[in-house]
Amino acid sequence: MNRERMDIVIIGHVDHGKSTLVGRLLADTGSLPEGKLDAVRENCRRNSKPFEYAFLLDALKDEQTQGITIDSARCFFKSARRDYIIIDAPGHVEFLKNMISGAARASAALLVIDAKEGVRENSRRHGYLLSMLGVKQVAVCVNKMDLVDYDQATFDRVRKEFTAFLDQVGIAPGGFIPIAAREGDNLIAHSTRMAWYEGPTILETLDGFHRELSRSDAPLRLPVQDIYKFTAQGDDRRIVAGRIETGTVHAGDEVVLLPSGKRSRVVSVEEFGVVPQDRAFAGQCTGLTLETQVYIKPGEILCRADEPQPQVTSRLRANVFWLGRQAMVPGRRYKIKLGTARMPVWLTELHTVIDASRLEIVHHSRQIDRHDVAEVTLETLRPVACDLVKDIPQTGRFVIIDNYEIAGVGIVLDADQGGQTLVEKHVAARDRAWERSTITPDIRSQRNGQKSTLVLLTGPIGTGKAKLAKMLEEHLFAVGRQVYYLGLSNSLFGIDSDLRETASVERDEHLRRLGEISHLFTDAGLILITTVSDLDDHELEIVDTLNRPGDLLVVNIGENRFFKRKPDLEISPLGKAEDSVRLIQQLLVSRNYLPEYYL
Ligand code: GDP
Repeated sequence: MNRERMDIVIIGHVDHGKSTLVGRLLADTGSLPEGKLDAVRENCRRNSKPFEYAFLLDALKDEQTQGITIDSARCFFKSARRDYIIIDAPGHVEFLKNMISGAARASAALLVIDAKEGVRENSRRHGYLLSMLGVKQVAVCVNKMDLVDYDQATFDRVRKEFTAFLDQVGIAPGGFIPIAAREGDNLIAHSTRMAWYEGPTILETLDGFHRELSRSDAPLRLPVQDIYKFTAQGDDRRIVAGRIETGTVHAGDEVVLLPSGKRSRVVSVEEFGVVPQDRAFAGQCTGLTLETQVYIKPGEILCRADEPQPQVTSRLRANVFWLGRQAMVPGRRYKIKLGTARMPVWLTELHTVIDASRLEIVHHSRQIDRHDVAEVTLETLRPVACDLVKDIPQTGRFVIIDNYEIAGVGIVLDADQGGQTLVEKHVAARDRAWERSTITPDIRSQRNGQKSTLVLLTGPIGTGKAKLAKMLEEHLFAVGRQVYYLGLSNSLFGIDSDLRETASVERDEHLRRLGEISHLFTDAGLILITTVSDLDDHELEIVDTLNRPGDLLVVNIGENRFFKRKPDLEISPLGKAEDSVRLIQQLLVSRNYLPEYYL
């Protein structure tokens, strides 16, 4: 028989008794391997050190690193109702990593507070974290009641103080339980030493919690992790792979990929190593084959066309909990991980900054210090697909990376639409500050006998773009045009640019620079020729915007990966290079970049 399982997380200030509580729950529910308890007791006796239930956790791990709480331990204990898996979270960062990456999904939490020490900063921060991560079922265990003589007034004081706090962060605790983990009071049996407490034990409280609502009923959200190509000859199908965060997908469903907006239809639902299924649902890792071979990149969210769709925005109103050693500041480039998307992000507005432990507003703050929570506006270099946390929490949470480390965690409160993008704002500011001479573009153009433009050659790798670009330069140069081939390294745009985590961020930065460089060359009156592999709509938009008021001609060679923008010219990769050069020359003439007689 399949027993119900529930993942829970136990958090609390160091030394408030988390490991003891876990060890004792394992022991008292008879969930330990035969003889383990005795073996650990015996080991302690032989080494003349007092027995601790916390040692059981270490003993359960093969390497006996005694005295150190084990990393993200996964321990099981059972009640009559279900099996519990405990996700032990030794620190904030580990905890966040697990929770947000989906390695762990706690439906409920036990928050441990030492009765004698009372509510500590960390207790408050943990409350905040749970709130941000959307763990709403929280039982607060007021531990070490033996140290305060099982005194009801002390318990009440802690309860009152912490309830007020949790209330402010939107958590209604599922119960406060006075316990003595070491002594076993109120863990699985009612304590006789606290007759004044008539509420449930820890186990009863947990059993009273609900498993997360079925995520399969929510709209489909499948953040694309990877694209696999069939390697068999002549088979050009691709499998779109990822983990379904919410919803259900069936063969035959019409699907939309966001932010690109591309559409297709699901042909088959593959599960690795299993015969194709006709559907897959939340929690499953799956691979879909689609009817049309749309070009998809990892980081997009696949949704159903007939269901409510995520927001697509480059401006997020969010709550951020900052953990980084260095404060979060406006102007600095960070990286955001949202679903499977990763991209540069900037803090552009700080609305309110709150000290997470005192819950006080920090006035006039220009930065978010460690352990502060702030309501902010973040801007990404290009649009991202996400949900508001209140709609679909799974795709409404994100992580901020600073210097390759998780430095912040956040939830999306709102998605701003419209307005100027970050790049547009930058260009507006740049143009305001641009110092111009008396030689206008027109004067330049007249003397050069040409109008300047950027000629951007794009298309898949291996279609001979660079060779063509150089040939074009030679031809134009030979007839006296002011032309320059900008040979930026293609390696960054290479085949694995979407696979390596930092590469996509580097690529964005590379494109940004390309846009700025192009702006200089076109402003100087040149025809600038360059190549970028696999350019998509948003990337083209970045280069185009930065190059403005310079002109841009897009020449696509081979498979066309644009969805919104039509290239100015499409060239077959199979054609002769000389013919392709001629086609581009004709384009330049027909658009008046080159004079007619030149042909
Ligand atoms: P953690 O850091 O939160 O995992 O805390 P531990 O479980 O390692 O406990 C820290 C210390 O508190 C240990 O020495 C435990 O024996 C002690 N402790 C835990 N629970 C109780 C309790 O109910 N009563 C008393 N007096 N001490 C306890």
